[in-house]
Amino acid sequence: MNASEFRRRGKEMVDYMANYMEGIEGRQVYPDVEPGYLRPLIPAAAPQEPDTFEDIINDVEKIIMPGVTHWHSPYFFAYFPTASSYPAMLADMLCGAIGCIGFSWAASPACTELETVMMDWLGKMLELPKAFLNEKAGEGGGVIQGSASEATLVALLAARTKVIHRLQAASPELTQAAIMEKLVAYSSDQAHSSVERAGLIGGVKLKAIPSDGNFAMRASALQEALERDKAAGLIPFFMVATLGTTTCCSFDNLLEVGPICNKEDIWLHVDAAYAGSAFICPEFRHLLNGVEFADSFNFNPHKWLLVNFDCSAMWVKKRTDLTGAFRLDPTYLKHSHQDSGLITDYRGSNKVNEALLQRINSAKKIHLVPCHLRDKFVLRFAICSRTVESAHVQRAWEHIKELAADVLRAERE
Ligand SMILES: *Cc1c(COP(=O)(O)O)cnc(C)c1O
Repeated sequence: MNASEFRRRGKEMVDYMANYMEGIEGRQVYPDVEPGYLRPLIPAAAPQEPDTFEDIINDVEKIIMPGVTHWHSPYFFAYFPTASSYPAMLADMLCGAIGCIGFSWAASPACTELETVMMDWLGKMLELPKAFLNEKAGEGGGVIQGSASEATLVALLAARTKVIHRLQAASPELTQAAIMEKLVAYSSDQAHSSVERAGLIGGVKLKAIPSDGNFAMRASALQEALERDKAAGLIPFFMVATLGTTTCCSFDNLLEVGPICNKEDIWLHVDAAYAGSAFICPEFRHLLNGVEFADSFNFNPHKWLLVNFDCSAMWVKKRTDLTGAFRLDPTYLKHSHQDSGLITDYRGSNKVNEALLQRINSAKKIHLVPCHLRDKFVLRFAICSRTVESAHVQRAWEHIKELAADVLRAERE
């Protein structure tokens, strides 16, 4: 597909999408198909020759749509809302075009910076305590996760690392395995199934605290579990409180359980995946009271805030709890703006290579990242774009040679 066909098909696709949304009420909300319906309708292996665009769109209507559960039908009342809107669909198209991967600031500065600022906007809309915001170079901040399940897992793993470090600082002879055996995490018996799964993945016990008559976790039940477990030699370290459970939208009593977690040095994660968007409304904000006791907080804009899946907003009071827990420093992720604080033991040839890389990346005609192969600093030249031709590679090579000559000349002087 070239650019001119993309222009034409893109407009057709937008029409198809708009027609789908406008006509969705006329479609049966839940499909009639039986398990395995799809396989006989399409070839057993990928075709050797491409289909036409028309054929593909016809297949979408004939083969895919009959098997779609229409989450955006006004007759869909299952699970939970999943957000979608025309602006979010357009934004997805633009993201597809820019197609960058934002794993570090340098991997695409706008990506990281927009995320940080938007997370502050969103945090202010919720009136999150300032400690969770990134502005004014505070210790806290927000980060987008794919799902609330991931946010819970990330919080649990960070809490696990933190408690292990704390206990080992006090008793260096303790092994990680010995500590992990004793760690115990908690949630109410109404928590989302992803909380239990986070415990399984994190390799720690997870205990369900019985909820009260309103399906809320209360102080007394938590206290009881803590006392019993501590007496048995276990180490409570992590707690998930839910604001708006998936089953019946009940609320754990944060104002009661929050101070207990703080006193016991238990990381408190607040899962407001479902109901969180509502806290933007002043009349519902009181439901978030007690979040000031939390170490991390999460809700899903992809449930109720018109943002297409996946966008789960997570905030922490101490960014270093997350960055520290998952810290890895491969060479190709380092960049000149990073205050890595590392002092590299330069050898002659590595130093020259580093100087060359620096020249290349400050000239900004091409972009490379380095790696280390054993003790060698290596400039990686990866063919990345689909549209690279040998002329581009030639031009890049001439450019590199020129800069290399400059570096060597500077060395000699
Ligand atoms: C929906 C929901 C989740 C899971 O959300 P994902 O983003 O799909 O992982 C977790 N907790 C609660 C309370 C939920 O309602």
